[in-house]
This record gives sequence, C-alpha cells and structure tokens, in this order.
Amino acid sequence: MIASEYDVVVIGGGPAGSTTSTLLAQGGLKAGLFEREKFPRFHIGESLIPETYWVLKRLNMLEKMQQSHFVKKHSVQFVNAHGKESAPFYFWDNKPHECSQTWQVVRSEFDQMLLENAREHGVDAHESVHVVEVLFDGDRATGVAIKQDGQRKEIKATVVVDASGQAALLMNRMKLRIWDPVLNKGAIWTYWEGAYRDSGRDEGATMVLQTPGRDGWFWYIPQHDNIVSLGVVAPFDYLFKGRKGDHEATYYEEVEKAPAVKKRIANATRVTGFFATRDYSYRSTQVAGNGWVLVGDAFGFLDPLYSSGVLLALKSGELAADAIVDGLTKGDTSAAQLGRWGDNFNQGVDRMRRLVCEYYDGFSFGTFVRNFPDLRNTVTDLLIGDLFDDKVDKVWKPMESLYPADKKRLQTWKEGDTPDAAGQKANELVVPKDLRLGI
Ligand SMILES: Cc1cc2nc3c(=O)[nH]c(=O)nc-3n(C[C@H](O)[C@H](O)[C@H](O)COP(=O)(O)OP(=O)(O)OC[C@H]3O[C@@H](n4cnc5c(N)ncnc54)[C@H](O)[C@@H]3O)c2cc1C
Repeated sequence: MIASEYDVVVIGGGPAGSTTSTLLAQGGLKAGLFEREKFPRFHIGESLIPETYWVLKRLNMLEKMQQSHFVKKHSVQFVNAHGKESAPFYFWDNKPHECSQTWQVVRSEFDQMLLENAREHGVDAHESVHVVEVLFDGDRATGVAIKQDGQRKEIKATVVVDASGQAALLMNRMKLRIWDPVLNKGAIWTYWEGAYRDSGRDEGATMVLQTPGRDGWFWYIPQHDNIVSLGVVAPFDYLFKGRKGDHEATYYEEVEKAPAVKKRIANATRVTGFFATRDYSYRSTQVAGNGWVLVGDAFGFLDPLYSSGVLLALKSGELAADAIVDGLTKGDTSAAQLGRWGDNFNQGVDRMRRLVCEYYDGFSFGTFVRNFPDLRNTVTDLLIGDLFDDKVDKVWKPMESLYPADKKRLQTWKEGDTPDAAGQKANELVVPKDLRLGI
C-alpha cells in the first residue's frame, strides 16, 4: 500500500536509489521508493570497482555478494592499439584487504538484490510506479505525483531524492544539465558464450582494448555462466554516422579491425542481439536544492572507460543519505545542507574524468608506469575508485611531463553545452528485440 506521506521519497530503484533509501531507513526515516519498471529489468554497467566495497558494507550487502555467483574481479588490464598488453593492475597488490576483490555483475540480478535489500531494511519500495512530476511550493520540493495503473496520485515528502538515472527527471525539468564538451561517445555491445577466459586470479579481469585507430576501445567483461560482455565505445559520429550497415555491421567491422578482440571470440557463440547507446557524459550544475537532491546518473554520467558509474551511484547515494538524515534531525532541509557533499564529490568525479580524457588523448598506462614505477600504486588508487582524497593528485605533474609539445588544453565539463544549446543530445538506449534476462 502506497502511503500518502513519507519523510523522503526516492525516484528510481537502481543502485543509487536503493543505496540512498536503505541508508535513510537505517537512519530511522520513513522512505518510499518508486521504480517505474518491474524488476528484474535489463541494465548496462556490469563491472564494479573495489571502492564499492565500503558502501556495500554499510548496506549489509557484502555477505550476499560473497555468496552470489558473480565472477570475482581482481584486476584491470589494458591492451594498446598494437595489441600490446600492459601488466594487469592487481588491486590486492595495491591494497592487501578483502575490499580489493570486487565483482562482474549481471545488472538485472544485482539491482534486484539491492532493491530487495532495501525492502529488508524497511524501505517501502514499489515497482511499476512511474513518478510523473516533482511537486514544488515555490522553490521547495514538497513531494511527487505518481502514476500507477493509469491513476495519478500525489504523495507528500519532506525531501525528494531523484535517482531516476539517465531519465534525470529534475535535471531536465530545471534545465541543470551541462553536456560534457569532450566526452561525446557511443557504444555498441552484445554477449558471447564460450569466449576466451584467462585463468586463476585473471579470470575475472576487465580488459580494456584500444581500437587500432585509437578512436575508441572495447570492454571485455567475463560474467558467470561462461558469458562475456563485449562492447565497443568510440566517438558518437565515428560509430553511428556515415555507416552503411546497422549496429551489427558496425560492431563486426570494429571487431575485424582489432585482432586482439577477434581472437578472444573466435570460438564463441553470440547469445543476444545488439545493444547500442549514445554515451554522452554530462553533469548537473547543482546536486541539491531546497528539499531535493540528485544522486547517481540523475546527477551526472561519466564515460564508462574505468567502470566508475555504479561506484558514483553508490557513493552519491551514501553522501546524500547522510546529509538528509542529519538535516532532518536538525530540521534543516536547505540546499546547503542537502548538498553539502557536492563539492568534494565533484572533485572526485573530476579526477576520474581527467584520467578518462587523458586516455582518449594518448595517455598510455604502460609508458607511464615504466617512467614512474613508484606511482603505479597511485594510478591503481584511481582505478579502484579512491577518488575523494587529494593524495592521488600527485600523478598529474608526472603525467604532464610526458605530454607532447602540441597537446591541447583539456576543457572542463563546465565548458560544455547547456540544454538550450545541446540540440539533439540524449542518451537513448537501443535493446535487441530478442532480449532475454539472465545473460
Ligand atoms: C555503455 C555503458 C557502459 C557502462 N559500464 C559500466 C561499468 O562497467 N561499470 C559501472 O559501474 N558503470 C557502468 N556504466 C554506468 C552505469 O550504468 C550507471 O552509472 C549506473 O547504472 C547508475 O545507476 P543509477 O541508480 O543512478 O541509475 P539507473 O541504474 O539507471 O537506475 C535508475 C532507475 O530509475 C528508474 N526510473 C527512471 N525514471 C523514473 C520515473 N520517472 N519514475 C520511476 N522510476 C524511474 C529506471 O527505471 C531505473 O531503474 C555504464 C554505462 C553505459 C552507458
């Protein structure tokens, strides 16, 4: 039964929404969550990074993850445009603690586990309920309007959390989105059974394989049941404009050009059709306002190169929940209170964004580590998602010392297009007609 009033309403039941609502319930608040889909539902974003551990721990999810059939991930490895492999970045060598083992998840399963876990903690979570509007009194959010079975209903809340992912309900309504000026990518992917797998602690490694033209890269993510998720990411125009064939044809053209990828799937069977998405990075100019907060992709999306999306969803959910619990205790639900974590969080995202942009602009992990072996651990800190501390900033100067003379200044995300100037930018997802879950 949906109540007519909650302390906090959370829009969306992805990782950000489940995290926020669980921690709110742990903090003694009455949290209602509305998810428009019926779970399990497909989602991309399958490779976790180690720093998710600490939030999963607070959510009481660790045991469930450890008992799950998700493939254990111990490292990430880069293959350059010539097929040369870097040594794997083993997380354990950097931080000998159980947090250094993370997972490759199937999101339909992982997201359902998180949502069930939220319910177990007392969250009043409802699926197949579409939030159609956030209600305001002046500039203060006061609740939401939902639609269920065609019926509209208004629900009051002291705080509204937007965790609606790339649908970004509030960001769109309030025109807060800035499209990243540099990271305008697209992605096409599918799933393979019986593809090549390394053994031992390398079995669950994420591989990032640069395309031979250095325009983009492939992700290679081993999952359970002998499935591999294999996708190509490249500039949007390169991947989707001026091509003669469909997504399938483009995918195979790119595989054909990349021998290191082709050999890995030589004896494998494709088990789904082709998925595609525009993959434009963006961020909101604000994390919060009076009575409302944005978390996860509803706040910002960063290019998936280093698999940081779920971490950022979990982390922002955690920081927002702490600010809300504290704010409601003090009777302060102002923008300043609810968004007190925003600056530090943005700095962390900026660090990851810089590493992403450096890669697209020619940065080589192999060359860097050969030149600065004592900074290997600091680079690994960034790769595991240890982003919210300035100890990692010591990598930038040495990185700059390897720049070619003609290197262009990196534009900041704030220099990107605002909604009015962005034209047709929107991250649409194309899923194959024969989609079946559980891959
Ligand atoms: C090509 C690609 C590859 C990626 N790879 C990785 C990776 O390897 N690792 C990684 O960590 N991340 C990856 N990501 C990023 C990751 O997918 C996201 O960052 C992550 O899913 C964000 O979680 P979220 O909870 O914010 O949003 P979501 O997971 O999208 O959840 C939002 C939920 O809100 C619901 N919703 C939307 N609108 C409404 C509404 N009006 N009412 C009610 N419910 C609503 C949706 O149905 C959805 O379930 C990748 C992304 C892309 C595009």
